[in-house]
Amino acid sequence: MNARTGSNAPARGLSGLPEDESAAVADLLRDARAWLQEFAEEGVTSFAPHSHAAPSARTQAQTPSPASDAESAGAAPPGAGQPQIFAGAAPGERPELAQVREQLGECTRCPLCEERTQIVFGEGNPDAGLMFIGEGPGEQEDLSGRPFVGRAGELLTAMIERGLEIPRAEVYICNIVKCRPPGNRTPLANEVAACRPFLDAQIAAVQPRVIVALGKPATSLLLGRDIAITRLRGQWHEYRGIPLMPTFHPAFILRQYTAQNRKLVWDDLRAALQRSREAQ
Ligand code: SF4
Repeated sequence: MNARTGSNAPARGLSGLPEDESAAVADLLRDARAWLQEFAEEGVTSFAPHSHAAPSARTQAQTPSPASDAESAGAAPPGAGQPQIFAGAAPGERPELAQVREQLGECTRCPLCEERTQIVFGEGNPDAGLMFIGEGPGEQEDLSGRPFVGRAGELLTAMIERGLEIPRAEVYICNIVKCRPPGNRTPLANEVAACRPFLDAQIAAVQPRVIVALGKPATSLLLGRDIAITRLRGQWHEYRGIPLMPTFHPAFILRQYTAQNRKLVWDDLRAALQRSREAQ
């Protein structure tokens, strides 16, 4: 018997459905809203009927190859897989950032070299506990040669310095690809594959205690899964054995400047800092 109504009929919510079904519908609607927000963030405004046509170049770019799946499983320790790139570091040895930069050189390993102004390698504390990783440089970064210096970069800096109360120079900031993709598009699979060894070498050099992945493309490329950032953020994952916290990209926060979004990012960054300090 229903304790509230005194009848044997199941309790019903405002929708007229039994309460448990109302809750399920509410969950579905919340998920649907999150997905729509994510699609809007990715610039998707309409949906084609389902077909078995070949995936688009963009889809292919966001769908990791089996090789990157395996790599993203976190089995390889930081520092593994470097010797073929970094002649200066013995197998398993911690490379230095200067070595990694030197090996990168005036890189032409992928087509992104053709339209870049300059390589945006990364910057920060070479022994940082926190490492922030975005997908690729934007226009301001391409012009200045520094990561996260445009409006989104200013917000990231404020989040680090005013939110976490640590100097930006205390963390390390870089991107998955070091050259600006034309029009700020998501890097393609071949571009990520060409540049990823240098990201992995940067991680091996810095040996951060925690990685913060900024935005859906960076998170998807690092984790080898194409999942909405609204579902992934706030939950711990791993990249090459290092705890990884996905959160919103500061550019997304600028576009969706709501108290709720700001709170979610603060929560993620505070969790990342706390875990980094606990691991010291
Ligand atoms: S994105 Fe990376 S691999 Fe491609 S040209 Fe630039 S530095 Fe080289």
